[in-house]
Amino acid sequence: MSEPTFPLAALSRLRMAIDGVGVTTLVCGTGCPLRCRLCINAQMLSTAKPMEVTPRQLYDLLRQDDIYFQATGGGPTFGGGEGLLHLDFIEAFRPLAPRWHITAETSLQVPPDWIPRAARCVDAFVVDIKTLDREIYRRYTDGDVDAAAGNLRRLLELCGPGRIRVRAPIIPGFADEASRRETVRQLREMGVTDIDEFTYIDPAERKK
Ligand code: SF4
Repeated sequence: MSEPTFPLAALSRLRMAIDGVGVTTLVCGTGCPLRCRLCINAQMLSTAKPMEVTPRQLYDLLRQDDIYFQATGGGPTFGGGEGLLHLDFIEAFRPLAPRWHITAETSLQVPPDWIPRAARCVDAFVVDIKTLDREIYRRYTDGDVDAAAGNLRRLLELCGPGRIRVRAPIIPGFADEASRRETVRQLREMGVTDIDEFTYIDPAERKK
């Protein structure tokens, strides 16, 4: 079988307390199964000219951050895009960096049988669940929230809540405060303990 490669669109170094434990380097890949209406990465995802890297090549690119990773318990965060879209790659990368704390940013819109594999090679998950309201999720992402929620339940069974942070935003024009409150209530009922509550900024408003 040929070695998996990663479509590296960007690296963002020396991030602190944004997308994982300690100092992280965000490793952005291309590709996402969702089509979120306020996606801040949409342009990057469609126009990026990624460099295809092997696990060893990515490890070599990240080695300069090793001192920060070791000092703070941090490591690379695979995002994008959908971080778990490149699960084959992360599985091949993991043995090269056994001491780095690997995080994946994910909507969990992946096949259910990928969840046990991800639980084995990823240390922590930042789950961008968006909302648990079926209709709002469909209107906002074009996707099916039941698939993501089912995968979140499975991940909780396999990892426990300590390795999982879930993002529950207010989404302007889609999910208001009351809707977010209901999503948070359901997440707690599922056993999620680390919930990041915030408000999306509409990219159109950002430019004003
Ligand atoms: S899941 Fe993230 S990358 Fe994918 S479309 Fe939504 S906001 Fe964009």
